[in-house]
Amino acid sequence: MNAEKLSPPEQICKFMSRIYEAKLTTVSGGNLSLKDLNGNIWVTPSGGDKGRYHSEDILKISPEGKVEGSKKPSVETGIHRSILADRPEFKAVVHAHPPGLVAVSLLRELPETMLIPQTANSVKNMKLAAYGCPGSEELKENVAKEFRDNPNTNVAILENHGAFVASEKSLMHAFGVFRDLDFSTRIQAKAQSFWGRPPKLISQEQLEYYNRSAVSELGVFKQETVSDREMELRKDICDFCDRAYRRDLFTQNIGVISARLDEDSFLITGSGADNAELTVSEVVKIQRDLVEEGKKPSRSVMLHKKIYEDNPEINAVIMAAPENAMIFAVTDLEYDLKTIPECYIVLREKISKFPFGSTIDRQEELAQYFRTRSPVAIVENDCYICTGTNIFNAFDKLEVIEFSAEAVFNGKLLGGPIKSITEKQVQEIKTQFGI
Ligand SMILES: [Zn+2]
Repeated sequence: MNAEKLSPPEQICKFMSRIYEAKLTTVSGGNLSLKDLNGNIWVTPSGGDKGRYHSEDILKISPEGKVEGSKKPSVETGIHRSILADRPEFKAVVHAHPPGLVAVSLLRELPETMLIPQTANSVKNMKLAAYGCPGSEELKENVAKEFRDNPNTNVAILENHGAFVASEKSLMHAFGVFRDLDFSTRIQAKAQSFWGRPPKLISQEQLEYYNRSAVSELGVFKQETVSDREMELRKDICDFCDRAYRRDLFTQNIGVISARLDEDSFLITGSGADNAELTVSEVVKIQRDLVEEGKKPSRSVMLHKKIYEDNPEINAVIMAAPENAMIFAVTDLEYDLKTIPECYIVLREKISKFPFGSTIDRQEELAQYFRTRSPVAIVENDCYICTGTNIFNAFDKLEVIEFSAEAVFNGKLLGGPIKSITEKQVQEIKTQFGI
């Protein structure tokens, strides 16, 4: 669903609730603002339950500064108004205290943005704003000046506090940048802790290559009627997107699901769609070399197409970058499948790693790998690709990967070392489960 169709107060309630539900703030922390077409700024109130705001709680501030509403505006309203006044191109501002970004704010450092392409593309010239007491003129000026003095800056990390993210597009976009940056910072922290050194980053050249490849090579067809089976499959994709989002396997922007419809066609999530609220009409049909008219499929569509063409037994593909599993995608550490029997039973011998950019230039190799080697692949600094006989089957693999990775990470926190199961025990699993 496109949140931008909602009224400004409804959008603010929706994304404040999203921030709270995603555990990116406490019940009392964080504030949002949104500028409407008349130049009014809508802001969250001071205090209250951040997870349960209603439209009537949201305040309107006119361009002249007149406040309308039954509550007191957020204590950080001054910062929101300064950012929106100094940088008229911005439409929305998000502020909260998510644990990943607060962690770097405690070190008074900035997080890496070149860890995954989503943050590399969305975070511009991030700045560190000097400490100030919440609600003070000092904090307002410390934050406002970073946005005012740096014309392309869209993110500021506040020392010992949290982050401000502004967007020239929408509140939904600001939330997406905020969420993905916190998510990427958590991956950075876990990878560094596990590996004992900073994680691997993508270069500017690699990013440019990745971005250039977004152009689809597909023509267009007009969708006439939708069969019952296609409608069911569209609903399944939406349901699993929602589930993956709620279980922190997807973010709003990161995560793709596709499923085979028949010999000639498959369905895939759309580019720019909101994974938390995907609707059946946002799912895109690909038929041979044609894409459904008026829709833009995920940028990875050509890889999905190749996998289906070369692997008749594969009927679903999920691409995701879950927090714990990504430790192994941004370091040289191997993902060990011989940890718990469930992991071995679902994922088998070995998950191979492919270099960043392989979703673009190693499609043939990846399709062959899924046919002959393993149902799951890691693409460095990008994602995991899980294939299956249906969506449930591919989703199961994704969950097992993330849960096992979290268990291994926690084992390491407990002092390690992790002890793998032996070859004899593997043989016993193979016999027991007929593998
Ligand atoms: Zn704050």
